[in-house]
Amino acid sequence: MAGLSTLLTGLFFYRIVGSYLSDRASAELGLESRLVQRMLLTEKDLAATADERADEYGRDLGVRVTIVAADGKVLGDTDLDGEELARVENHGHRPEIAGALREGAGTSQRYSSTLGQTLLYVARRIDPDDASRGVVRLALPLTAVRSARSHLLLLLILPLLLSVLCAVVLGWMLARRTARRLEDMARAASEIAAGRSAARVRPGGSDEMDHLARSLNRMAEELEKRLLLLSRERHQLQSVVDGMVEGVLLTDAEGTILLANGAFERIFDASAPLAGRRPLEVARVPALQEILEQARHATAPFHREIALGGSADKTLQASLAPVREEGRIVGTVAVFHDITELKRLERVRREFVANVSHELRTPLTAIRGYAETLRDGGLKDPEKAAEFVRVIHRHAERLQALIADLLDLSRVEQGKAKLSLGPVPLRDVAAQAEAVILPLARRKNQRVLLDLPDTLPSPWADRDRLAQVLINLMDNAVKFTPDGGEIVLSGSAREGYVDLRVTDTGIGIPPAEIERVFERFYRVERSRDRREGGTGLGLAIAKHLTLAMGGTLEVESTPGEGTSFRLTLPAA
Ligand code: ADP
Repeated sequence: MAGLSTLLTGLFFYRIVGSYLSDRASAELGLESRLVQRMLLTEKDLAATADERADEYGRDLGVRVTIVAADGKVLGDTDLDGEELARVENHGHRPEIAGALREGAGTSQRYSSTLGQTLLYVARRIDPDDASRGVVRLALPLTAVRSARSHLLLLLILPLLLSVLCAVVLGWMLARRTARRLEDMARAASEIAAGRSAARVRPGGSDEMDHLARSLNRMAEELEKRLLLLSRERHQLQSVVDGMVEGVLLTDAEGTILLANGAFERIFDASAPLAGRRPLEVARVPALQEILEQARHATAPFHREIALGGSADKTLQASLAPVREEGRIVGTVAVFHDITELKRLERVRREFVANVSHELRTPLTAIRGYAETLRDGGLKDPEKAAEFVRVIHRHAERLQALIADLLDLSRVEQGKAKLSLGPVPLRDVAAQAEAVILPLARRKNQRVLLDLPDTLPSPWADRDRLAQVLINLMDNAVKFTPDGGEIVLSGSAREGYVDLRVTDTGIGIPPAEIERVFERFYRVERSRDRREGGTGLGLAIAKHLTLAMGGTLEVESTPGEGTSFRLTLPAA
C-alpha cells in the first residue's frame, strides 16, 4: 500500500517535473531564437552570410541554427555546409517554419530521421513584420531533457525500490514473529484442549499478542482450577461409592457400565475393570440384565428382589432408577443390597415358631388326651387312672422344661442372663456336675471319670452357668452312649485359656449333621431322641452361654466311636 502510494506520488512528480523541464527548454529556446533573430535582423546581406552566422550562433548557444528563405530554401545551417546545404530539401513545409511564415513564430517537436533523435524546434521570422526576409529556426535535441527526466526517474524510483524492499523485509520479519507467536499459542491451546491444562504461553510481543497470550493463560488457569475441583468431587464421590456396603452400578443409556463399586464386584463375583462392558458380560445373571432393561424404561424408581443361583446362593434387594438429564433418560443407577442373611434369619425365625408350636403341641396333646380319657370314665379304673395321671404329670414336666429352656435361651440370646464372672474353682464345679450325672450313668452301667490336673488354672466364668453347660454336655454324653460306656471330663491349659473336654464312647454324630447340633430344636435322629426326652435346646443354650462368658464350644465326633465337646474359656 505504502509502495503504491509512493509510486503514484513519484509518477505525479515525474510528470510535473518532466513537463516543467520541457517547458523550460522550449522557453529558453524561444528566448535564444529571439536573440538570434535580433542579431540577424541587422545583417546586410543575409543570403551570403547565412550559413556562417548559423554556424557561429549555433556553436555559441549549443543549439542547431537553421536560416530559411521565405520560399523555404535553406540558406544556412549549423550542422550542414557547402554541398550538403545545397542539396537539402525545401523547408517551407516544416510545421514550425510554415507557422513562423504565417504567424511570426512557430514551434514543433518531432523525430528527425537525419539526426536519429527527437528535436524541439522554435522558428521565428527574421523580421517580425516582414515574412519575405525569411525565418530563423533553432533546434534542440530533447535528449538533454530526456536524460534529465531519466535522472529524475532514477532518483524517484531508487528510494521507492529501497523503501519497498525495506517494507518487504520488515513486514516479513514482523509477520514471521507474529506467526511464531501464533504458532506458540496454537500449540499451547491444543495442549490445553488435550487435557494438559498446565500448558502456558510466554506473554510478550505486540499489545494484541500479549493480551491474547494472557487471556489464553488465564483460561488455562481457570480450566486447571475447574479440573481440580471436578477431580476432587469425583474422588469424593468414588470414595463414598467405594465405601458403601451396597453394590452400586451406573450405566449409560445404552446399558454400558460407567461405574461399579467394589461391593458390586464382590456381590456378583465380577472382576474389574467393569467400566465400558455390558452387565451380562461381567456377571452372568440374566435377572440383572432384565431389571436394568426395565429401569431404562421406568418412569419412577422401583425395587426388585433377585436370587443369585449357583454356589453363591444369595438374595439381593435391588433398587433401580432411571437417570434423567433435561427430561431425557441418559442411564440407570442400581443399588444392590445383600439380604441373604436377613432372609436366613427370617427363615430361622419361621422355623423356630413352627418348632416351638410343634414341640409344645406334643405334650399338650398327650395331656389333653389322657385328661379326656379320665373325664370320660377313666377315673373309674383307679389303677389306670393313677397311670394316666403319671403320664400327664410327665408331659407337664416336659412342657415346663421346654418353656424353661426357651425362656433361658431367649434370656441368654438377648444378653439378659445375669452373669457374675470370676475365677471358678473347677474341681467344685466338676464335682457338682458329676453328682447330677452319676445316678443317670449308673443306670446305664457307665463310668464317669474326671481328669483335671492340679496345675490347671481356674477359668474366668460364671460358676452356675459353667456347671449348667457341663451338666448339659455330660447329660448328652450319658444319653447318647450305650450301656457300659465311658464319659470323661478332662481339662488342659493353653496360653491364656482353659480347655475342658467332655468325651464319650457313644454313638457319635454323622459328619453331615455335626454343624447343626447347636441349632435350636435340632436333633440328629428325632425318634431316637424323643425316647431320651430331650428338648433339642440344650446345646443351643450351652453354646450361647459359652459365648456370653467369652469362650467357645466346639464338637468333634466319629459315628460309632464317640463324641468330644471342647469348651474353651479364658484363664482367670
Ligand atoms: P437334646 O435335648 O435333644 O439333648 P441338645 O441340644 O442337647 O438337645 O442336643 C442336640 C442333638 O445333638 C441331640 O439331639 C443329639 O442328636 C446330638 N448330640 C448331642 N450330644 C451328643 C453326644 N454326646 N453324642 C451324640 N449325639 C449328641
